[in-house]
Amino acid sequence: MEETEFTSEELEYLELVKWVIDYTKKRLNNGNEDDRKTAEKCLIEYHDTEAKVRTFAKMRTKHLREVEIENNRHKDEFHEVRCSKCKSVFALKPVGEQKNKQEYLCNTFLCPHCKESFCNWVPISDRGKVELGELVLEAMKKNKEPQDKIKAYKKSMTILEYL
Ligand SMILES: [Zn+2]
Repeated sequence: MEETEFTSEELEYLELVKWVIDYTKKRLNNGNEDDRKTAEKCLIEYHDTEAKVRTFAKMRTKHLREVEIENNRHKDEFHEVRCSKCKSVFALKPVGEQKNKQEYLCNTFLCPHCKESFCNWVPISDRGKVELGELVLEAMKKNKEPQDKIKAYKKSMTILEYL
């Protein structure tokens, strides 16, 4: 099972709850009937809030691990790229990352033919891809590309937005 990661605030809170539970248990054994009833009620609440903090931390840890896996997935995938130097096309796995003009991270590759490293300038994130798509679309309109070509490109972008 995966280990839950707690924030410092959560650890502090759990420590405090543990102390309060221990203190209340002592009161449970030493006090009168009313004290005992109050202490029992409090213990249920303390255990309940403790469980809530643990569950929340567990869910957050799981979510963050999934995000991390998703963010690193591109590193294990093959991308069809063209070497900027020798123009050969390969299916390669990235060897690094580099920022483009819009400050989005893009993959870099090592050409097996000329051993040069190059960037494909396609943003890794979907948001970056959409922004790049919009720039390309603007350029297409400016260059007065045929309407059906623009339409087809727009359609491919719409798919991208829902990936
Ligand atoms: Zn090359």
